[in-house]
Parts: sequence; structure tokens; C-alpha cells
Amino acid sequence: MSDLDPKDWDAFRRTAHALLDACVDRLAQAGDHPWIPVPEDTKSGYALSDTPSGLEAAATRMAKEVMPYGVGNTHPRFFGWVHGTGLASGLLSEMVAATMNANCGGRDHAAVYLERAVIDWTRDVMGFPDTASGVLVSGTSQATVIAMSAARLRALGAHVRAKGNSTRLTAYAGAGVHNAARKAVELLGIGADNLRKVDDWSQVPNMIAADRAAGGTPFMLIGTAGSVDFGTFDDFHALADLAASENLWLHIDGAFGAWLKLADTPWRELSNGLERADSLACDFHKWMYVPYDCGLCLIRDETEHRAAFAARPSYLAPQKEGVAGGDPWYCDYGIDLSRGNRALKVWAAIESYGGAGLGAAISDNCARAAQMGALIKASDKMALAAPVVSNLVVFTADQTLPPEAQSELNAGIAQKLQLSGDAVFSTTLADGITCLRAAITNHRTTAKDIEIAIAAVDRETP
Ligand SMILES: *Cc1c(COP(=O)(O)O)cnc(C)c1O
Repeated sequence: MSDLDPKDWDAFRRTAHALLDACVDRLAQAGDHPWIPVPEDTKSGYALSDTPSGLEAAATRMAKEVMPYGVGNTHPRFFGWVHGTGLASGLLSEMVAATMNANCGGRDHAAVYLERAVIDWTRDVMGFPDTASGVLVSGTSQATVIAMSAARLRALGAHVRAKGNSTRLTAYAGAGVHNAARKAVELLGIGADNLRKVDDWSQVPNMIAADRAAGGTPFMLIGTAGSVDFGTFDDFHALADLAASENLWLHIDGAFGAWLKLADTPWRELSNGLERADSLACDFHKWMYVPYDCGLCLIRDETEHRAAFAARPSYLAPQKEGVAGGDPWYCDYGIDLSRGNRALKVWAAIESYGGAGLGAAISDNCARAAQMGALIKASDKMALAAPVVSNLVVFTADQTLPPEAQSELNAGIAQKLQLSGDAVFSTTLADGITCLRAAITNHRTTAKDIEIAIAAVDRETP
């Protein structure tokens, strides 16, 4: 036996309790801790040596030298990119998950039943039928690859698994489609040039006809529920009708926006029709606030999902009973064989707060975005680059300047406010101008935080 386990469990208990206290303090005081850069000597101090320092010293270092230097997304005025905040339930569930150390590729144990419970719950929230299946994944990027694999199998037949792509496949996505779709077409050998960007969906039947005439095989429409730049939503009923009439697979990227299914009117209505998709990708780690990482691929027809991935060599043969029971196994629904216990942190969040509690936070985020939009409209200099429809606010600090000067000003303000700890905005291009961008997926953000953040932008605008 090795001596990797503690010899003195009471000493370990004291170490663990002290670290847990430090973690709880950190969460309780999240509002006092914006992003700060990692000091140079701390960074270089992370280098590993051949001389171990033991559990207690490692715990102290984690509390003092690691915990203070996060991304800052636990802070109430973090609005950058689309980052979830994490939850107190996550601190508890991660502790239990580490203790159990379950491998969730399959077999018969609690975590696989939790994963089924999480998928069933989400399937109902999203309005998918009982025939749907799902798998928890690292995020929407991976979920997109899984959904596209199933769509490809429908278009080309099961022999695609042995023979590869027998024809040039083409897919169609709105102009706001996320880069994840491009990565997926590249990975599956379809090629980025065959992902057609659509400005006007009414033109797509013509595009499809042209691709067919040129010997291509149109196979997939990709709709977006919550575009990453402006938080816009496609018309999913129109897309589902188009997919049906052209006999194409409809996939929806709902990374964060799909969760408007839990929100109040009017935001909830943006997700209407999403339930008609063949597949949906969404994240728990963004707008469900669950700790990183966890996304979901949901597929309408379980048989199509399994047909794209099931392949078990003899050493993974299932049994009726015993730990090798528990069929179906999640390794037959995705890319990974060994998988961590992502289900527990999601289950703990839903069990702790309920769909209503999480939905109330989502609705409040939309209300905060609307508030930010109203403050910008009321200002003399600031201007919105696009209407606020959900939780995204894109704006310029001074619309009276020429475009280039606006870009320089906005990028400078984003950087200054990140460094000062006032607020984290990211940036994006709108009509060629680098704008400030707030994505509010933060359950700690209050109305006061929005006022402080906009006042800080105003202060930095000459
Ligand atoms: C974040 C995001 C993705 C990518 O999801 P990951 O979970 O980061 O892999 C895809 N689409 C949209 C709209 C997103 O916001």
C-alpha cells in the first residue's frame, strides 16, 4: 500500500475544515473581490519541484496563492463574454463528487441516475418529447459536434461511420452563429466553406437548391437561441417549417438563451418553437450558474443519437446486474469514455433552488440588461449599438466621436475598468465599431451594480 492517503485523518479533517471555511468566506464576500492579476512572483511560485510540501501546506497555498486570482466572474459587476457565476450548491456538490470520484461513462451507480434525472428534467423544460435522449458534456462546443454527428448519420446513413463522408455536406446558419459550429464542421470533415452564413432565411431555399444542383447534400439548419454578440433569437417555428419542407435536420445552439424557457414573459417568448428542433445544445455553466464545466446535448430521437456513437469493445460488455449493469451507458451517446460527475452539481442546483428560483434569477438578469439599456439611452453621449432583447447590451461610450475614435475609447474603457476592478465589460464589433458589451448572466448583479458600472463608463469618457 502506498502512503498517499493521510496517516492522521484528524489532522486532515482540521486542514479540510480550514480550507472549507476559506472557500465559504470567499463566496460570502464575492462582492469584495473583482478580478486582479496574478502577481509575478505568485505565478512563478506555481512551478512544481521534486520536493513535496504535504497536504496541509498545499491546502494553505491553494487558499492564499490560488483562490484570490480567479477570472472574476464570481463578482457582481462581471459582465464579460458569457460567464456563469457559480453557486453555493456547487461548492457542496463538488466536495461530494471529489469524494465519490465516479467515472460516469456507464455502469450502475448514483451519478448515472442523477444524469438521467437532470436530462429528463431539462427535456421537459425544453419541451422535447419522451423519446429524446441527452448526454452531459464539457459545453456547447462539444454538444454541437455530437448533434452534428447524429445529423450527418441521418443524411449519409450508418455507413458514414465506416466509410467517412461520401459526399459534400452543406449546412446553413444565421449570421450570428457561434464559432462552435465552424469548429464542428471542420472536425467532422465537412469543411468551414460548407457552413453557409445566412443573412436572410427567406433566401435559404434558393441556396439549398443551388447546392443540390451543384452536387452537394444539404443536411442541416442551425438556429441560434441567444446570439453571443447581441442576444438575438431566430424564429424557430419558421426554421422548423423550413427544415421539414427541405427534409433537413434542425439544430439549435441555445448555449445560454435556451434557458429563457424558465424566464417570465416577455423574455420567455423568445424561445418559442425551440421545442421543435431535432437537437439542442445548451450550457448549465452559463445561465444556470452551475460551476464549470457542464453543457448538454439533447437529441429528439434516442435511436439516432445512439446510432452515431454506440460502439463498445468486448471489455466494456454490459451485464444485467452488478456494477457492470446500468445500461444504457453514456459512453454510447458521446465522445468520452471516462467522464466526471457533471450531473451532481446540476442536480444539486435544481434540487436546491428549483426551476422557479433559477428562472427568477434569469428574468432578473434580463431586467438588469433592460435597465442598463435605459441608462445608456438616457445619457447624452452613450448609445446602444443594437436593441436590448434579452441579456446582452452592446453600446458605445461616445457616439459623437468618429468611428475610429469610438473604437479606441471603448476598448480603452473596457481595459481600464477591468484593471480598476470597477466592472468587467468585454468588447465586440458592431457596424465596424469596437463597442462595449455586457452579457448579464450573473445572479449577484443588483440594480445598484448596473448604476455603478454605467457611472464608471461615464467617468472614463472625456
Ligand atoms: C458559449 C457559447 C458557445 C460555446 O459553448 P461552450 O460551453 O463555451 O463550449 C456556443 N454558442 C453560444 C451562443 C455561446 O454563447
